[in-house]
Amino acid sequence: MNVTSSTGRTPPRQIRLALRKEVGFGCPVCGSPHLEYHHFDPPWAERHHHAPEGMIALCARHHDEADGGAFTKNQLRGLKRSGRTHVQSKVNWRRRHTIFDCGGNYAYQCGAMLTARGIDMIYFEKDDEGYDTLSLNIYDVCLNPVVVMRQNDWITRSDLDEIEAAPRTPKLIIRSKIHRIDLRIEFIDREKMSAAELELSSGMGIPEDENVLLVRLRGEIPAPCHARFTDRELVVNERMNFTGNRMINCGKGIVIG
Ligand SMILES: [Zn+2]
Repeated sequence: MNVTSSTGRTPPRQIRLALRKEVGFGCPVCGSPHLEYHHFDPPWAERHHHAPEGMIALCARHHDEADGGAFTKNQLRGLKRSGRTHVQSKVNWRRRHTIFDCGGNYAYQCGAMLTARGIDMIYFEKDDEGYDTLSLNIYDVCLNPVVVMRQNDWITRSDLDEIEAAPRTPKLIIRSKIHRIDLRIEFIDREKMSAAELELSSGMGIPEDENVLLVRLRGEIPAPCHARFTDRELVVNERMNFTGNRMINCGKGIVIG
């Protein structure tokens, strides 16, 4: 396959995805899921191309090392074949005031947004330094964990369709058609918040001179209960719709038996 592009050094989306997938969504040197794309055969300086057989996904640090010549072409070809079963990392977006937007339902200083079968699927805790963090328990329909996050530290299986945690992009995307998981988490700072979101923030009592973070959850998760998060609503088990709820200082939000 020989794919060329006049649009610059960033490869097309499908090529980026194929390159991440072949290394199990983790840097083949260190395992980091925060991946960039290295052109090595031929190097970008020799010819501008997006031919995947001459490219490899690496984290920023090992991309720099590869640019500096640390790896031979044969070593890089070998690294392209080294898959992994899991990837893990940490979300570094932390603020003392965080609004969690779960399908247009907003939680501030709360314990959990969604609990089913006794399992907190989406919950919130202060870490040791007093910052708000996100925790997730997302299972497949057989109740095997697929994505687990504890106070912003996350781990997920690698045999999925898509894991995207690009450096410098305030998003984490995890998708698997077979597991019916489509998880999109976006981190939005005060400067990027809309007028309505700023109004929501002051309505929740967050002082206007304080940093505030909006964490937006969208997509679909299958278990312990099925939940779909759109811009307008959270639909649980395809029959319960929740929209526009504001939860402040409460222990648990939605609890499904
Ligand atoms: Zn690395």
